[in-house]
Amino acid sequence: MAAAKDQERAGRAQAGPDVIEEIRRSVRALCANFPGAYWRERDRARAYPTEFVKALTDAGFLAILVPEEFGGSGLGVAAAVAVLEEIHRNGGNGAACHAQMYIMGTILRHGSAAQKRRWLPGIASGALRLQAFAVTEPESGTDTLGLRTTAVRDGDRYLINGQKVWTSRAEHSDLMLLLARTTPREEAATRTEGLSVFLVDMREAVGRGLTVRPIRTMLNHATTELFFDDLSVPAEALIGEEGKGFRYILDGMNAERILIAAECIGDARWFVDRATEYARERVVFDRPIGQNQGIQFPLARAYAATEAADLMVARAAAMFDAGEPCGKEANMAKLLASEASWQAADMCIQTHGGYGFAEEYDVERKFRETRLYQVAPVSTNLILAYLAEHVLGLPRSY
Ligand SMILES: Cc1cc2nc3c(=O)[nH]c(=O)nc-3n(C[C@H](O)[C@H](O)[C@H](O)COP(=O)(O)OP(=O)(O)OC[C@H]3O[C@@H](n4cnc5c(N)ncnc54)[C@H](O)[C@@H]3O)c2cc1C
Repeated sequence: MAAAKDQERAGRAQAGPDVIEEIRRSVRALCANFPGAYWRERDRARAYPTEFVKALTDAGFLAILVPEEFGGSGLGVAAAVAVLEEIHRNGGNGAACHAQMYIMGTILRHGSAAQKRRWLPGIASGALRLQAFAVTEPESGTDTLGLRTTAVRDGDRYLINGQKVWTSRAEHSDLMLLLARTTPREEAATRTEGLSVFLVDMREAVGRGLTVRPIRTMLNHATTELFFDDLSVPAEALIGEEGKGFRYILDGMNAERILIAAECIGDARWFVDRATEYARERVVFDRPIGQNQGIQFPLARAYAATEAADLMVARAAAMFDAGEPCGKEANMAKLLASEASWQAADMCIQTHGGYGFAEEYDVERKFRETRLYQVAPVSTNLILAYLAEHVLGLPRSY
């Protein structure tokens, strides 16, 4: 495992403050072409923001974590944090494409040399979209080890049967990372063994054993449910060793948590900016509403919570990029940032009064979008359970 992590770090350049500032400036400039009206229209139609994703891809931002030898920028998580935070701070939503940045980490850390050569250059250029990650199932939910989708070896292929739910962006992906059971739970050597990771080529799978059904949700998220009915994939689709997939997935979670936390910080700053501006301008009882402490104090609290959470995000990202264990910090960053963004969202609606509910202010859209982060990609309770058990040494609660 240590070797895999070294391999991921190898070639990753640490971005200094100037590089990070330049990234932020460029992302801001790109986002200026996608104003609130763009996101509102996409949201209303529950339509994928294809133009925005293309612009980000063309600018190379989605390849920021791919090592240079495979065509990416070879930068660290701190640089990816800057990209995602800016998107959200400028009113956009990185959820349409953030997974293109980090899912490839599983191939990078655990794939064979041939798999890396075959897939990573296309992922870096954007010619191949790897943005679907199928873990959650309807029956097992948060209990990943209880998943029931099976992959059974059949000569030089695997036959996959089962069901996934909440597989986001599956309709906008060429490739998908899938976690499936290859050894029945009762026969696995340990509790965490028996699951394997596959890289499924969606272009070959859809309609030939894989059915994708969109789920309409309270936010525009392009999420789906998947049905596998004797889907046949080549044995080369297996990433790493059979049976070790759960550990591979866990390995990618710190980066994911830090990046989602960055999106929350961007959202929180957007809410604080919007609320401050509105509180200054809106005059009721012949004075700006922001003159009332009842408006000022929740705003100041949301600001302080955001800045505190941001420190934890920065610390987790720096530790990740230095190759230090950062499970505790990544989890706390996600917890604190998702709570700060929700606090800021609630404050922003309240500050806007009735207008917070009007579509044209974008506040209600961002409010719906930021609520997700306390549930997905991991729910707040599970982070608290992790901290209680693994950091504080309390008995496992589940
Ligand atoms: C819009 C959206 C996009 C998503 N995208 C993806 C994706 O791309 N890929 C993917 O694999 N998954 C995805 N998910 C799934 C997401 O990660 C899960 O919804 C989440 O992990 C919770 O699983 P569940 O919905 O089955 O809830 P459940 O497991 O049923 O949990 C329900 C509630 O009970 C709590 N709970 C459960 N067990 C415990 C316990 N032991 N202690 C305390 N509380 C507990 C949970 O915290 C939660 O609040 C997405 C979800 C949504 C809504």
